[in-house]
Amino acid sequence: MARRKKIYEGKAKILFEGPEPGTIVQYFKDDATAFNAEKKAVLDGKGVLNNRLSEYFMTGLNQIGVPTHFIKSLNMREQLVRQVEIIPLEVIVRNYAAGTMSKRLGIDEGTQLPRPIVEYCYKDDSLGDPLVSEEHIAAFGWASQQDMDDILSLALRVNDFMSGVMFGVGIKLVDFKIEIGRVYEGDFQRLIVADEISPDSCRLWDIETGQKLDKDVFRRDLGSLTDAYTEVARRLGVMPKSSTPITKPTLIN
Ligand code: 5GP
Repeated sequence: MARRKKIYEGKAKILFEGPEPGTIVQYFKDDATAFNAEKKAVLDGKGVLNNRLSEYFMTGLNQIGVPTHFIKSLNMREQLVRQVEIIPLEVIVRNYAAGTMSKRLGIDEGTQLPRPIVEYCYKDDSLGDPLVSEEHIAAFGWASQQDMDDILSLALRVNDFMSGVMFGVGIKLVDFKIEIGRVYEGDFQRLIVADEISPDSCRLWDIETGQKLDKDVFRRDLGSLTDAYTEVARRLGVMPKSSTPITKPTLIN
């Protein structure tokens, strides 16, 4: 097989040039990082789980008319996605207080918020992805006012979809992060959901027990991260499409 060109390697994924112009192959690694990569581990099977879960959520979003970059699954660790121009923002939606919001505002983790709250962080690892306001976004030209309207609408639709899907399997969607990409279609451009949606980028708590089923298991040393993600996949009926154990296949060049 022809050697593929690596375009970018991030903390949890590698992007390769896709087979057609405007496509990308997104490879999910087993690497787990937290606290801006100060804490690191390789967790066997995490990439396979996130690949399947992100495929599941993105496919569902596409089906209800929320546009995403997802085109099709390629194998246990790879999916074909549309090439996008990433907006340099992490878009966070919160339904319950947790994490940095609890720290910043002194609100107990788990407190239900009066309504979903959307926050924006500037995507820059060297700065620790700082929280920014719409004023910063407009002034520095990271997104236009029309983009911000579209981003808010996408974020709230993703929140409704994800909250409903997770509620259906006894899980509370506490918060999540998405990234948004710009695509050009002829004379038009539009914004679509990009990157990934997985337990790496959401807070997911069991409704009955409060057990954490997301990356906080790794961040806070609460047990096996892959067991937690496997439980999410099991409840959703999206165990990896293989009866073999979730081990790391050889990276195809
Ligand atoms: P917090 O601001 O409380 O740390 O995170 C809020 C939500 O966004 C959590 O679900 C968290 O997992 C997600 N999140 C925030 N920053 C990042 C990031 O850099 N990477 C990933 N994967 N998720 C993030």
